[in-house]
Amino acid sequence: MKRFDVDENGFYGRFGGAYVPDKLRPCIEELQTAYLKIMETDGFRKDYDRLLRHYVGRPSPLYLAERLSDKYGCRIYLKRKDLNHTGAHKINNAIGQALIAQSMGKRRIIAETGAGQHGVATATVCALMGMECVVYMGRVDVERQYANVKKMEMLGAEVVAVESGGATLKDAVDAAVGAWCSDPSESYYLLGSAVGPHPYPDMVARLQSVISEEIEKQLQELEGRDYPDYLIACIGGGSNASGTVYHYLDRKETSIVLAEAGGMGLESGRSAATITLGSEGVLHGSRTLVMQDDKGVAIEPYSISAGLDYPGVGPLFAHMAEQCRSVTYPVTDDEALRAAIELTRLEGIVPALESSHALAVLGRLPFEKDDVAVLTLSGRGDKDMDTYIRYQG
Ligand SMILES: *Cc1c(COP(=O)(O)O)cnc(C)c1O
Repeated sequence: MKRFDVDENGFYGRFGGAYVPDKLRPCIEELQTAYLKIMETDGFRKDYDRLLRHYVGRPSPLYLAERLSDKYGCRIYLKRKDLNHTGAHKINNAIGQALIAQSMGKRRIIAETGAGQHGVATATVCALMGMECVVYMGRVDVERQYANVKKMEMLGAEVVAVESGGATLKDAVDAAVGAWCSDPSESYYLLGSAVGPHPYPDMVARLQSVISEEIEKQLQELEGRDYPDYLIACIGGGSNASGTVYHYLDRKETSIVLAEAGGMGLESGRSAATITLGSEGVLHGSRTLVMQDDKGVAIEPYSISAGLDYPGVGPLFAHMAEQCRSVTYPVTDDEALRAAIELTRLEGIVPALESSHALAVLGRLPFEKDDVAVLTLSGRGDKDMDTYIRYQG
């Protein structure tokens, strides 16, 4: 087994696993048994490839950003996931898991969402496949993200406002898991990132691994070699990052650079810099790095970008950090905003705030002239226009 493969119990080194309450165990075990078998069938592969190509718009371009490259003194390619249908990489995962759910004979999709991006991707795929969709969302988030709620409803999903606890993402996860447990034979829980109990982190990484597969092919064509010197990605839970690095994990020619949310600064107490500040713990069914207090209670994370605002990280990334396979930079809100404006002015591309965290790292890397760097632009900035407008004054 390779150093970064998951073992049969769902562990990457000592991180991962499936720490779930007894009543959830049968649902998780059913999925553990089913997911690889389904993903290896010809039927699944054919449907997944067809939808990625003709519905999502893959392969996404690998674009040599010349003006950005000039500025940083190496060759920088942008992997353009911002051009995917629905504007980010989340749709890859939603389509894959919905196909798996169908193969398992489930007709009802349950999902949680914070800001609404995963909820919209899930509702989109359920509309496409004619499946019932229920999205759990904290009441506070429902109020903050009204347009996304209306969009999910337009797509035919039912949005349930969760009143318990702080009425945000964590409470939405609890409610969604509860709904899954009470109807396990008909329902499938579609998780939005490379987090949670086994098999979710591995399943999500495999579904997103089309990204690194495409990078290998495209680089071979453009550069005459299939690997970059640097791979740069932003990380919240790690679905974008796991897809970006998947085929390069065991290739030491390639340095892996991750950008996480430094929020208002590491010392401010207002960040989501989990890899830098977190300690070992169990969060949402998985042993990983968690931002937690002395009693082991996860603390309320903060980031200007909703997608990075999570107090944990996928177990693969806890393992990679421990093995020194990746270098992680916390990026503050202000640095991300400046990087967003810079890309917009240099290349005419308005990036998502999440992706801007990755862009902000470019100035910190010791590039040489012939280096090739691939940065995954995880999404487009339309959803962040209000923030950008406020920032520009
Ligand atoms: C959700 C999101 C992220 C962060 O989530 P990961 O699971 O870490 O990928 C990053 N970028 C965009 C555009 C997103 O929508």
